[in-house]
Amino acid sequence: MTPQTLNTAASTASASETFTDEDRAKMIADVEAYCQELRPIEEIQYLERDFNPAIASLAKKHGICGMPVPKRYGGRGADSLTYARMLARINREGSGPRTFFSGQSSIGQYPILKYGTEDQKLRYLPKSAAGDLILAFGLTEPEAGSNPLEGTTTYRREGDSLVMNGVKYLISNGSIADAVIVFAFPEGAEGDARRMSAIIVDTAGESFEKEQMHSKPGMYTCDTAMFSMNEHKVRGDNMLGKEGEGFRIAMHTLVSGRLSVASGCLGSIEDCLTECIEWAKTRHQHGKEIGRHQLVQDHLAKIEMARATSEAMIERAALAKQASDDAPGDKALLADADYKVAQAKFFASNAAWEAADHAVQIFGGRGWSELYRPFRHLQDVRVCRIYEGTDEVMKLKMGAKLLGKDYEAFK
Ligand SMILES: Cc1cc2nc3c(=O)[nH]c(=O)nc-3n(C[C@H](O)[C@H](O)[C@H](O)COP(=O)(O)OP(=O)(O)OC[C@H]3O[C@@H](n4cnc5c(N)ncnc54)[C@H](O)[C@@H]3O)c2cc1C
Repeated sequence: MTPQTLNTAASTASASETFTDEDRAKMIADVEAYCQELRPIEEIQYLERDFNPAIASLAKKHGICGMPVPKRYGGRGADSLTYARMLARINREGSGPRTFFSGQSSIGQYPILKYGTEDQKLRYLPKSAAGDLILAFGLTEPEAGSNPLEGTTTYRREGDSLVMNGVKYLISNGSIADAVIVFAFPEGAEGDARRMSAIIVDTAGESFEKEQMHSKPGMYTCDTAMFSMNEHKVRGDNMLGKEGEGFRIAMHTLVSGRLSVASGCLGSIEDCLTECIEWAKTRHQHGKEIGRHQLVQDHLAKIEMARATSEAMIERAALAKQASDDAPGDKALLADADYKVAQAKFFASNAAWEAADHAVQIFGGRGWSELYRPFRHLQDVRVCRIYEGTDEVMKLKMGAKLLGKDYEAFK
């Protein structure tokens, strides 16, 4: 997506509020400056296999911690397509940095914006958009991944508080978050009464214990964590949306999260392409630049096709999501966005994996090394076929759409 494509497309997307061409140009410049300042730090942290605190601190400095948050809540007010483009740009620096933004905005701020009360919005959105408060989304548990309804985290009302108990697992930003959207069931409830709710949980206090998860083959620089809540008290008015509406909130939020994963994968493909073009023109073997060997051009063509097709799928999905966001309550538009985003996520994450593999091959022996960017993308994008809904779950969604709801194979 060139900036020109973006401008045209965004104007057809009935962009949120008053996100002008000038706002867009400023945000593109800020994200570019962020990426350039981040790259040398990210390089070192990745090679040291260490968490990179500059991902968040530089995002705060460049004012990009709330890109899709409306201006009235302190954000930049970006439309879905522009935000998708920004995530792709950030992911050229790596899936780690982009995952921070997914946790903060796509699945952190988004559900508060969509389902929060005005008071909740005012308490969480301006601070998080300013980078003074980090957010995360806590759905997955050790025994509940693809089927979150198997979760065992609970809440109970006690006076003015909600008391939380349970463990959340593999949560992006989970050990650095000041607040997490946690999904939980009423304590002791069974049968029809066992309905999941979404609760904004402030993480301060000893009853909230968190731990970074280090055994990752990639994405070293972002935070992946588990946390446990043991009689952890939160404000009684921190339930997000209606009681029992948590599953719907989670599924709606994942539409936003999946678009961010797909966009990130596009960024990985773009970076692989840039790196490979440069390498193909500078590396010589058999008396000429390797780019002059036709089989190397075959790899390049495949990466370029992965880029072009992913870009088209993401643009289509982002426009569908924008249309849905512009018409809250329109179930048909939400279903259309859900489907197109699932397709984009499935397609782009597989395309990025294959593109990175071609890129590694072009780099030869150096390709199989974290010192070079293609291999980092290869190992980082693998998780994109797993988190925010696995490949299999995306395929089941397509099966149900093609065959009819009766054929839904989730159960
Ligand atoms: C780095 C990272 C970051 C993450 N960040 C977050 C986060 O911020 N918040 C959050 O809540 N979660 C997060 N997750 C969790 C992630 O969303 C889950 O790992 C994912 O949903 C899969 O769940 P699972 O790991 O329990 O696998 P399982 O659900 O146990 O699945 C195992 C395998 O079985 C398949 N399977 C399961 N059910 C079916 C079915 N009905 N039909 C066919 N196949 C099926 C799956 O597709 C998969 O191949 C993160 C995970 C990782 C690795």
